[in-house]
Amino acid sequence: MIYFHKSKIFRLIVCALVLPVHISFAQTKIEGIYYLNNKPVSIEIKDGKIAGIQQIEKLSDTSHVAYIAPGLIDNQVNGFAGVSFCFAGGLLSKEGILKATSELWKIGVTSYLPTLTTNSEEVLSQNFTLLAETKNDKAILGSIVGYHLEGPYISSEDGYRGAHPLKYVRKPDWKEFMALYEASGRNILTVTIAPELDGAMEFIRKCTKLGIVVAIGHHNATKPVIDQAVMNGAKIATHLGNGCANMINRHVNPLWPQLANNQLMASIICDGFHLRDEEISVFYKVKGSEMTIITSDVTSYAGLPSGEYKNEEGETIELTKEGMLRYPAQNVLYGSASPISKGVARIIKVTGCQVSEAIMMASTNPAKLYGLTDRGSIEPGKRADIILFTIGESDLKIVKTYVSGNLVYEASK
Ligand SMILES: [Zn+2]
Repeated sequence: MIYFHKSKIFRLIVCALVLPVHISFAQTKIEGIYYLNNKPVSIEIKDGKIAGIQQIEKLSDTSHVAYIAPGLIDNQVNGFAGVSFCFAGGLLSKEGILKATSELWKIGVTSYLPTLTTNSEEVLSQNFTLLAETKNDKAILGSIVGYHLEGPYISSEDGYRGAHPLKYVRKPDWKEFMALYEASGRNILTVTIAPELDGAMEFIRKCTKLGIVVAIGHHNATKPVIDQAVMNGAKIATHLGNGCANMINRHVNPLWPQLANNQLMASIICDGFHLRDEEISVFYKVKGSEMTIITSDVTSYAGLPSGEYKNEEGETIELTKEGMLRYPAQNVLYGSASPISKGVARIIKVTGCQVSEAIMMASTNPAKLYGLTDRGSIEPGKRADIILFTIGESDLKIVKTYVSGNLVYEASK
């Protein structure tokens, strides 16, 4: 029991009226089924952080039973809800970044890495600058943890390049990268490159020295090159099984060596379109829950109605009724329109893994990989980034989302 003197209560009321709503100073307790052991718990939140976790006999409200877990952390968000982080011509705005962030909260993503894909140095620099100016806006509540640069230093080969525009694909250029790194406020947390390109190994070593997580992706590298990239510091394969040509040699292809390398983590897109269920199953068996990250690769088309759209190059992009996002000109996928929450539900269904393992792959592992020591698990002292959810047939049903102790989303009952 906490006793407040009347004048203190008055001061608290005044504070509540004056302070912006995102400042959390209150003490709250939330209950749910703990994702680690399936038992009811009460989690105490104080000043935006987790103050304690207590196992309880039963939930106070048994009519709304939901899992309670750390918020999801998505390492590949190209855009969301009509906002693209690669918009050219100054179309990306602070309002757009805020909108994408608050829409992501509704699907349980409490932290994410806006992802900028292959483009001109001008567009990348302009958008990194805007992101750097917006990242620490109080309304974002610390949800943007840094950025993912996917490309432009990737394979120019059709298929491996995916939907990245050929005219902007180039070899690693440290001077250019450093200019982008500075524009980002030194907040590029990870970069996806093709390790077989001229100068890639030196680039990987330099990034690793700066603490930037190197990912390999959109490449057609051989086993020795992949192993060398890992020895030089590369940590993860970006969306393993995608960014790969449709027709490959059954013995010599980039998939086997990435699966065979025990030091290389893998991110996988489990939306039901990017990988077949048996691929998810095999990748999971090989890498295990500790070396796998569920990612979304979600784009600005997520949340829009099905139909044909034009991208910024004027090319046709098709969003099917089933939620598949296609780039018909190359007969490849054009990123995803499915949130990471769908991937969590799907991997549980396909592999039979525990809820705790799925959350590990969508929250704890990315937090560890990027050195985000203040989030990714429910422990006293960590940020109160918490989700309550039930598991539906093809997606998580997010009931509530807390970011830094603030209730930012509550589903209508
Ligand atoms: Zn990609």
